[in-house]
Order: sequence, then C-alpha cells, then structure tokens
Amino acid sequence: MSVEQVVIIGSGPAGWTAAIYAARANLEPLCLIGVPRTNPAPVLPGGQLMLTTDVENYPGFPEGISGPDMMQHFQSQAERFGTRIKGVDVVKCDFSSRPFQLTCSDGETIEAASVIIATGATANWVGLDNELRLATSGGGVSACAVCDGALPLFRDKPLAVIGGGDSAMEEASYLTKFASIVHVIHRRDSFRASKVMQTRVLEADNTTVHWNKQLVDVLGEDLISGIELEDTVTGDRSTLEVSGLFVAIGHTPATAFLDGSGVELDAAGYVLLQGESSHTNIEGVYAAGDVADATYRQAVSAAGMGCKAALDAERWLAEHA
Ligand code: NAP
Repeated sequence: MSVEQVVIIGSGPAGWTAAIYAARANLEPLCLIGVPRTNPAPVLPGGQLMLTTDVENYPGFPEGISGPDMMQHFQSQAERFGTRIKGVDVVKCDFSSRPFQLTCSDGETIEAASVIIATGATANWVGLDNELRLATSGGGVSACAVCDGALPLFRDKPLAVIGGGDSAMEEASYLTKFASIVHVIHRRDSFRASKVMQTRVLEADNTTVHWNKQLVDVLGEDLISGIELEDTVTGDRSTLEVSGLFVAIGHTPATAFLDGSGVELDAAGYVLLQGESSHTNIEGVYAAGDVADATYRQAVSAAGMGCKAALDAERWLAEHA
C-alpha cells in the first residue's frame, strides 16, 4: 500500500481550500469527502453550505451564489490541480505511529504521512419534520443569521430566534437590523448567555422575549408562515406569525471519529489548535474550519484556515519526509 502525503478529511470550504493549496504544492492530496446521510438532519459532502440557498457574504461573488454551486466551484478548482476524491467517512484514526492509519467506512485503511481534519460542525436542530423540510428547501428556516439574515425574504418581516445562549443573543441582535420585530423563544425563564449579550437583547426596541416556550411545529408550505409553541410550564399551545425562523441551539463538531486517536479536543468537542497555527497536539496532524472554530464559523474564515493547514502540512513534510 502506498503512503499518501496529505489526506484531507472533509469537503467544506476548509477541506477544499486545503486541497487546492496542497495540490498546487504537488502533494497530490486525497480528499475523503464523506457519505451523505439524512438522519436526524441532512449532512452532505460539501458541508453546511450544501444546505444554504444564497451565499452573499463570500468575497468575489458580488451577485451572491448558491451554497451548492459554490462548493462545486471549490471542488472543481481542487480537482483541476490533481486532488483525488473518495466518497467515504473516516471511522477511526490511529496517529500513534507513522505512517498514520485511517480506517474508512468502506473497510479500507489508508496510510498517510500527514492529515488535515476539516470535518466541520453541524448546527443543532430541534428535529421537527417541517423545520428540517423548510431549512433544506430555502423556505425561511435557517441556523445562521449572519449567513442568511440579510436576504430580501426577511426584510421588515417578523422573525423568530430559538435559543437562550450567546449564539441566540447574537443572532437576535443581528436580525434587529432587518426585521420588523424579533421574537426570541426560550424554553426556560432565564438565558444562559453572558450578561452583556442578554442585556443587548432585553433592551432592544424591536425584540420580544417569549419565556418558557418550546417550538413544536413550523407552519407553511413553501415558505414559513408561523410557528407553533408550547408553554413548558402550563402546556398551553399558541401560534406566532413569522416570516423567518433562526434556530440557534448550538453546534456539534464532527469529531466522534477522533475518539481514542489522541487528538486533543476542548470540553465541547472542538479540536484544540496550538496557538495561531493549524497544528493539533500531534505532529503532522492539522485541523481547519468549523471543527476547530466555535467562534467565527464562516465559509471565508474556514477557507482561510484550510489554506493555513495546507501550508503547515507542506512545511512539515518538507522537513520530515
Ligand atoms: P449554548 O451555549 O449551548 O446554548 C444553547 C441554547 O439552546 C441554550 O439556551 C439551550 O437551552 C437551548 N437549547 C438547546 N437545545 C434546545 C432544544 N432542543 N430546544 C430549545 N432550545 C434548546 O450554545 P451557543 O449559544 O451556540 O454557544 C456555544 C458556545 O459558543 C458558548 O460557549 C458561547 O458562549 C460561545 N459563543 C460566544 C459568542 C460570543 O461571545 N460572541 C457568540 C456565540 C457563541 P437551555 O439554556 O435551557 O439549556
């Protein structure tokens, strides 16, 4: 079995950008793009942008571009320089000796001199059928206000945000710029967000907080028209008319396959990087994009991290290969 110089795990903006840089450095990267899955929520090769209708904040696309089209461009650019692609998940990693061993979902083991982890994170959803249907069809349900909030369909409309953490506060504050009113729906009677972020929401003019309310359904055929809520104390049901729903109940980094690999993760499961670099705690193993970034989570910041990871891997291989 020949040893791959660089294996990239993941195929979002971080993975493809790492592939473009590694391929242009003649490292002939192999990109393991993952297997599509639908349960409990859709996860596709290409990552979260595959579930995004319009991307308007990625520089270079003044008219915007659809998320799937954008990922196709990234992939084509990576392939143009010789990136090879395999449609498998990595299920186990052994970084204890060299070459590293990656066990794939098809049973094959791949040997690699260096590895770039770019598996991303998935937004958590409440898990309702209509929520997921409208989220994947561009029907006005989103898990990213910064990505989607400025779209025309949300302008001057009543919008709702679900959640009580910092993300929900941030999304609600951001949406006040576009919405006629922002409804913040939280399942308890107090937020877990930091005080400063809470205050911004609680004191905003066009924001109303609905305490002790759980989302039980999303209404509307092609576009969301409202949400159904249940009071978590009394059990009473009510309907709220909204033209957009932003679900901000946390993210889950895709790092389960790193169990037992020795790669250091933080308490929430994100890969820990060494300082400003893309190095993990294991020499020759790098990480890029949302899998190592709970803060920014943007396509453009993920792409930048992918570039750094490929350059770090290239330098390390030049010194150690
Ligand atoms: P989080 O802190 O885990 O908060 C998730 C929120 O969603 C909680 O309020 C939780 O309710 C609610 N929730 C969870 N599952 C739910 C469900 N099924 N139905 C309804 N509500 C549900 O996640 P986050 O807000 O994404 O923040 C993640 C981390 O990033 C935190 O450490 C945060 O401080 C950080 N962050 C920082 C900033 C910033 O400083 N600018 C911005 C964003 C995020 P309960 O409270 O009842 O559990």
